[in-house]
Amino acid sequence: SDEDYALLLAEETGAAAEPLEVLPVVAVVGRPNVGKSSLVNRILGRREAVVQDLPGITRDRVSYPAEWSGQRFTLVDTGGWEQDVAGLEARVAAQAEVAVEAADVVVLVVDATVGATGTDEAVVRLLRRSGKPVVLAANKVDDQRGEADAATLWSLGLGEPHPVSSVHGRGSGDLLDAVLAAVPEELQAARERPSGMRRVALLGRPNVGKSSMLNKLTGSDRVVVDATAGTTRDPVDEVVELAGREWVFVDTAGIRRRVHQSSGADFYASLRTQAALEKAEVAVVLVDGSETLTEQDTRIISTVVEAGRALVLAVNKWDLVDEERRYYLERELERDLVQVRWAPRVNVSARTGRHLERLVPALDVALDSWGTRVPTGRLNSFLGQVVAEHPHPVRGGKQPRILFGTQPSTQPPRFVVFASGFLEAGYRRFLERRLREEFGFEGSPVELSVRVRE
Ligand code: GDP
Repeated sequence: SDEDYALLLAEETGAAAEPLEVLPVVAVVGRPNVGKSSLVNRILGRREAVVQDLPGITRDRVSYPAEWSGQRFTLVDTGGWEQDVAGLEARVAAQAEVAVEAADVVVLVVDATVGATGTDEAVVRLLRRSGKPVVLAANKVDDQRGEADAATLWSLGLGEPHPVSSVHGRGSGDLLDAVLAAVPEELQAARERPSGMRRVALLGRPNVGKSSMLNKLTGSDRVVVDATAGTTRDPVDEVVELAGREWVFVDTAGIRRRVHQSSGADFYASLRTQAALEKAEVAVVLVDGSETLTEQDTRIISTVVEAGRALVLAVNKWDLVDEERRYYLERELERDLVQVRWAPRVNVSARTGRHLERLVPALDVALDSWGTRVPTGRLNSFLGQVVAEHPHPVRGGKQPRILFGTQPSTQPPRFVVFASGFLEAGYRRFLERRLREEFGFEGSPVELSVRVRE
């Protein structure tokens, strides 16, 4: 069929062998009820009902793939967190601060029917200090008459207010043109960076030792790539030399700078994790070996897997792990991290520097697996063998047969298996396990999907 042909073609052309594209990150900020969520939905082309905000509910997912005029970008929706803290102005500012750190371009949404409020002005001051490009969206301009309201927002000093009606869709095209035009040139330069520098995200819950590790790894001769002259901006990404090669550690500003750890900290943490993963190929997730693993640790690891990035697990503070603690630690890891048993693990101490040299070999293994392509011939002889040894169980008098398989893409490896009937979950897991046994994939998630052909 055409679909099969397209899959095979994707494999032939090796489209996925390209380095992962770094997409601009666009964050939408603004005070509650200005219409951020409807604007985000409008941009994503979603129907509003699907993601309607429920008060007090923190959505885990905060960043979404989006596209305008053929340009892809990542949209960060800050609307999910707003109902649960006191002090409106403070929380809007705090939310904006985190979003701004992660973003390349910020869209500030203001309600044109209300005009600029004190809170809006506070956010504007913060945005200005950040030095990031800001595009002003004057929302709720549903008709010609509203244009005059929008014009009053010139007073915010952010340049032209772009009138939009996120409910009716009016003006959103012009707004997106302005947003994409505002993507800084450095980002373009970073995207075109020719070298084979791999991009690493250092992740982990607060206090596991991320900054300590970064400091230890960078030492004194670290190179700051993104120090834009004339602004107060922190470097976002840093080039770090490890084992004689240069690596890009993404989103290091967020690691070096402590942000509000008060209310909404979970939301900030997941925003930062997701934003860093967008830009990274591989994640080093730090856990604190001296303390019991927490749900936050496992959540971060799941986020990496869901994002389809390569993973290295670093158990830090090993200098504090005595024999007794080690006994329990191994059991906790076994219990809580079974789903990533494939991840290479290093036991390190950011304080003493112990075994930090093992990080690079682990990164290499993970990235290799992540980019692995299994030739169709080899895959199918393997599938034939597996199926002969262990066929799908007969269900209701029928036995689905596996017809053939292909790997249409890498980063991470994605497999598609064509079968004559529905394969049950247990059998799909079995296939994935056998794929790993046969081809390795240490340090990389593997996706397996099944297409049923009558
Ligand atoms: P971050 O929040 O993940 O960036 O964590 P930090 O790097 O700020 O570390 C949190 C605390 O743990 C600090 O007091 C560090 O000195 C300490 N720490 C970090 N790594 C180690 C380690 O390997 N061993 C020990 N004993 N302490 C560590």
